Amino acid sequence: METKRIVIEDREHADDSQLKEAAWILRSGGLVAFPTETVYGLGANALNEEAARKIYAAKGRPSDNPLIAHISDFSELDQLVREIPKAGKILMEAYWPGPLTLIFPKSSKVPYGTTGGLDTVAVRMPSDPTARKLIALSGVPVAAPSANTSGRPSPTTADHVWEDMNGKIDMIVDGGPVGIGVESTIVDVTEEIPVLLRPGAVTLEMLKELLGEVKIDPAILGPLKDGLRPKAPGMKYRHYAPKADLTLVELSDETRLQLHNLDSRLYKETVKAMKEAGCSKDLTPEEFCLANHVKIMGEEALAQGKSTGIICTDETRNQYNHGLIRSMGLRSKEETLAHNLYGVLREFDDLNVDCIFSESFSEDSLGQAIMNRLSKAAGYKILKV
Ligand code: AMP
Ligand code: MG
Repeated sequence: METKRIVIEDREHADDSQLKEAAWILRSGGLVAFPTETVYGLGANALNEEAARKIYAAKGRPSDNPLIAHISDFSELDQLVREIPKAGKILMEAYWPGPLTLIFPKSSKVPYGTTGGLDTVAVRMPSDPTARKLIALSGVPVAAPSANTSGRPSPTTADHVWEDMNGKIDMIVDGGPVGIGVESTIVDVTEEIPVLLRPGAVTLEMLKELLGEVKIDPAILGPLKDGLRPKAPGMKYRHYAPKADLTLVELSDETRLQLHNLDSRLYKETVKAMKEAGCSKDLTPEEFCLANHVKIMGEEALAQGKSTGIICTDETRNQYNHGLIRSMGLRSKEETLAHNLYGVLREFDDLNVDCIFSESFSEDSLGQAIMNRLSKAAGYKILKV
């Protein structure tokens, strides 16, 4: 199949004529990848089982991993759901359109081919103007998982989509790099107490502020014990993964405690080393110490002849001088880390590195999404130092 690529110069103001063909493809059962504010999605008519099946084939996605149906207006929700629980109403009012997916009881109109056999359906109204316009023009709800080959990092540029999908889908709408860079937050509102199934840019703190109590699906926090099933089936797969062996390096509670104790030997040695290295005053002893461990591990791998990648931040970038070093952005601006995360993992795939050592990040607010994706990418190989 030949994959057509169209370019939208200004995603805020795409006009109908540019998106007409893409909308027609969606309506007639074909596949179109398009930008959203989170990552690029691979769209098909959510009400057409045959079209949904094509998504699974193009991605190589297991068929029990359900798709998210995307809508362009509140009026399109009723056809998809049996009821809208109160927590769902509250969240829709606050965060739609936006990076939030809600799980509702599904209507009979939604085929099981879209929901992976579940009686619930995941729905999102994206805020990206091009995505919304495309969905509106197509006249159907659009099932759109991330537009990557299953198991690869999600695409945040049209080039990423091209790498994975060229020849497998009808069209790519190239709207440039996406904004957020990690997939939507998913909340199941069908339960008495809403459950966070996947962290994203609508953070746990933001949800709790509106809903009070929110449960966290155990699949978010770490590998599941045998026999336990995640509520979002997709969370069980080793997702978001680079080809290389990724190790996430984290300071232990003990090390942190020592670095907060001005009388400890570790604190004094760290501050001394920071002075000698001429570090900026903005760098904390914790950041310096973490980077130092990552650096040593990287150097050990290099000494063993392995091609080695380092994931650091703008704050710690100058501490490294060996290996392929990539900054994910500013630790002090979490949104930059989310924005660059998948791009950096894909770059290391292109560079064919054998192993990657990454600094870890705070798990507060957006950090929860970043650490969730990174830990999964690392297959939960997290080294405490
Ligand atoms: P992706 O579209 O690639 O971001 O993946 C969609 C995610 O939504 C996967 O992790 C799915 O398991 C999850 N999901 C979709 N529909 C449902 C549903 N009905 N119940 C729970 N999780 C869902
Ligand atoms: Mg995905």
